Amino acid sequence: MKKSFLLLLLSTFSFLQSQETPNIIIMIGDGMGLTQITAGMYSNNNTIALEDFEFIGLSKTHALGQLVTDSAASGTAMACGIKTYNGVIGIDKNNAHQPSILELGQKKGYSTGLVVTSSVVHATPASFYAKVPSRKLYEDIALQLSQHSLDLIIGGGLDFFNKREDKRDLIKEMNQYEFVTDLKEFQNTTSDKIGFLTYKKEPPKKLEGRSPALDELVATSLEKLDARKKPFFLLVEGSQIDWGGHANEMDYMVSEFKEFDKTIEKVLDFAKKDGNTLVIVTADHETGGLTLKGGNLEKATVKGDFSTEGHSAAMVPVFSYGPFSKLFAGIYENTAIFEKMKQALNAEQ
Ligand code: MG
Ligand code: ZN
Repeated sequence: MKKSFLLLLLSTFSFLQSQETPNIIIMIGDGMGLTQITAGMYSNNNTIALEDFEFIGLSKTHALGQLVTDSAASGTAMACGIKTYNGVIGIDKNNAHQPSILELGQKKGYSTGLVVTSSVVHATPASFYAKVPSRKLYEDIALQLSQHSLDLIIGGGLDFFNKREDKRDLIKEMNQYEFVTDLKEFQNTTSDKIGFLTYKKEPPKKLEGRSPALDELVATSLEKLDARKKPFFLLVEGSQIDWGGHANEMDYMVSEFKEFDKTIEKVLDFAKKDGNTLVIVTADHETGGLTLKGGNLEKATVKGDFSTEGHSAAMVPVFSYGPFSKLFAGIYENTAIFEKMKQALNAEQ
């Protein structure tokens, strides 16, 4: 009797061990519509990491009552599964705060992290941890982040933490974190909770020498998260593809895309080796209404026109790889991205 109970216990334990819920990595190219991807691909000698993904879908990006979304409403749609008004983060039309997929992951024991090329309080990353009526409340968003329990926080915006109107020094208050100041320190630290606020304000363009590179930051983040021997949720954002679109500058947009694509390649390599990592690459919306009108295949150059300095309403692609990736094939609302990630998170395998 005793022996069979022990055997049952052992087999249950090994079952649980081998069927762990997957790591989830969502990579958002802000403003990365199909033409941005196409421009980046031809500018990169007709090859991109996205070609290795297993399933492709299309996401409808409109906000609540608005055909053209902003990054707050679309970030909230993907992070929390609800359509809300432009400018709003993590709060629905009835004023209710909605938990994000990152927060649901934490409840399941996931490690969590975010790595972005904007400030960490910008609309897209904020959608995964903050609840604010306006995306512009950067100091409130920083305060919420300081009281959250993310494991890795990487991106710009140090001033929102320690040069504040309320004179608080959130860096001091976040005493469970180690704040590193360069890539070496980040690589070498063994702390559980790590902050790496790469710039005081918004990080500069890649063209102006932003460093460390996104792919280096993400590679180190993956090492840290993987070493914890429990599943993790990671948000990676190529934040400035959008800013290149707003500026109507092809070089700016393409250079940001290329860094993002290099990062996708590293993430995909990790997922292939790991075998239990779901990777989703998508955009929150298209920016600039870009049309490609010419270029040179041999010289790997493209020419195009932008039709707006804002966003457009075009559907955006969703690329997926790994366990549960099949769920992301088809055409659906951006809020379904949350539901599909939730299915992966809650799967009783
Ligand atoms: Mg963004
Ligand atoms: Zn934008």
